[in-house]
Amino acid sequence: MVYLKKSALLSFVLTIGLLSTSCGMSVKGINKFQPNVIPLSQEIDLGRKFSKEVEKEVKLMRLRVLNDYIDSLGQSLAKNSDLNTIPYHFKVINGKQINAFALPGGYIYVYRGLIEAVDSESELAGVLAHEIGHVAARHGTEQMTRQLGFSILASILLGNNPSQLEILAARLFGTAGLLAYSRSNEAEADRLGVRYLYKTGYNPEGMGEFFERLQALHKDKPNILEKFFATHPPLSNRLEAVKAEMAKIPPEEIKESIKNSPEFSMVKVLFNKE
Ligand code: ZN
Repeated sequence: MVYLKKSALLSFVLTIGLLSTSCGMSVKGINKFQPNVIPLSQEIDLGRKFSKEVEKEVKLMRLRVLNDYIDSLGQSLAKNSDLNTIPYHFKVINGKQINAFALPGGYIYVYRGLIEAVDSESELAGVLAHEIGHVAARHGTEQMTRQLGFSILASILLGNNPSQLEILAARLFGTAGLLAYSRSNEAEADRLGVRYLYKTGYNPEGMGEFFERLQALHKDKPNILEKFFATHPPLSNRLEAVKAEMAKIPPEEIKESIKNSPEFSMVKVLFNKE
């Protein structure tokens, strides 16, 4: 979750307000009964514009081996997701925070601090798989549909006054934060993440192990996890839900799956050198 300048958010929100209201595509099995008026092609376009705004606010890592590594790990997981027909983009932010986030349309960012904090590739894959879950389930545009549906309705009630719409949009998104997903979105992203890990051949226990690591870290260094806890449900609830999802996978298959790779060890060595 990042906080953008109000003006950037406002222009982004207003662009969406002008979009056609034809029905957005739903992904098989995971968007049932979730209204989404934004077409997928528009979502990708918005994601690209929004990513440019994000990249004005953050510093990206320029280390080629690291970027290639994150991209190839992310792409392999995205290929096994429910929405594998769109391009995905994975980038590393040079920041100490232990966090990651997804914009609508396949733009996923992970903080360097998170890569430093994980202890295995399956943990890192778990984080990326969770973010891919948000993209595949189209949580961003679902939220916008829900929120803008209300504001557009309100503006109609108020005589379709554009400045009134601006005020409503700013009130809805300016302070609350556009990228704050709901608790049910987070639970769905965890559930999908476990599935994508398993389908890609990763040990799905990585997700639970990462949560346990965060719980321990939170006691030692609460500051670097402040934003993570502000934007995610309690870890104990998530851990239980992830374990329940894992119980559906035959245990003998989990033992055979990937936990680490030479590339992951190389990235770790790179960070330790700095
Ligand atoms: Zn999430």
